Amino acid sequence: MLTGLGLSLGKYGYAQKSPNMAGPIQPKTSPIVLSTWNHGIPANQAAWNILKANGKAIDAVEAGVKIPEADPNVSSVGLGGLPDRDGNVTLDACIMDQTGNCGSVSYLQHIKHPISVARKVMDNTPHVMLSGEGALRFALENGFEKENLLTAEAKAKWMEWQKDAKYKPWIYDDSNHDTIGLLALDSFGDLSAACTTSGLAYKMHGRVGDSPIIGAGLFVDGEIGAATATGVGELVMKTLGSFLIVELMRQGRSPQEACEEAILRIAKKEDIKNVQVGYLALDKEGNYGAYALKPGFQYAIMVNGENKLIDSDHLER
Ligand code: ASP
Repeated sequence: MLTGLGLSLGKYGYAQKSPNMAGPIQPKTSPIVLSTWNHGIPANQAAWNILKANGKAIDAVEAGVKIPEADPNVSSVGLGGLPDRDGNVTLDACIMDQTGNCGSVSYLQHIKHPISVARKVMDNTPHVMLSGEGALRFALENGFEKENLLTAEAKAKWMEWQKDAKYKPWIYDDSNHDTIGLLALDSFGDLSAACTTSGLAYKMHGRVGDSPIIGAGLFVDGEIGAATATGVGELVMKTLGSFLIVELMRQGRSPQEACEEAILRIAKKEDIKNVQVGYLALDKEGNYGAYALKPGFQYAIMVNGENKLIDSDHLER
């Protein structure tokens, strides 16, 4: 619906700027895209292609994370994701825009693009999260195709794991994780975030991590900033890390300070010897930060058309 001011009212009655409305809206800021790990590089590029044409952040974050979702060589997201300990690929994803609109799917099987199902939950239902069978049914009703997501390579790794794992779930090492979380600021100054994963490899069947939980895997407040997480989801959920980072930014911390404080909260409470968590944050002015528990966390940043992979700072020395 268009108001007298030429602003459209969103699902929850917030005024939203629309690049398509009558009369040009002047771009007011330079876009920026920030995402986790090296699969963030092609994801950033796909998001950037939308932002550089003055597209919306919410469309950019969805398009960005679809790249690793569809890549069979990325073993922690979508197609090609490592399965749970019973051999099932189960996916978690969520998406959020600057107005607080959000959608999420958890424990979704057989659908290559859980982020797009989450987007449809956000756009077309009165709910925030659909899970398991219900999420799958919703996806199929909305035209998504059922696919086998367990690639031959992932199946071979799972079979190898079974040889000495004794069916013990969730033994964390540097090869069994790597969610993509992606944050974007568009040229109209709006923020959005998306997060999608196959979760920790060889997890217990039915385990859901932080990635589909609004406030844990990601959080956006259009007035303040956005944050996203990767690593051991249980630690992120116990501290509601992404929400915490946005709240710290609201209190005046920089994105970098907020990420560091959120990592410290985990370190104060938990045995962090064999675990990793990494956070990214972006504020509405385009300032950003990154911090992790341990060395090894990398993030991809794209500004002014330049896309770079950077080693994050970390707590453990
Ligand atoms: N955060 C994810 C989870 O716990 C794992 C990851 O980042 O890959 O499911």
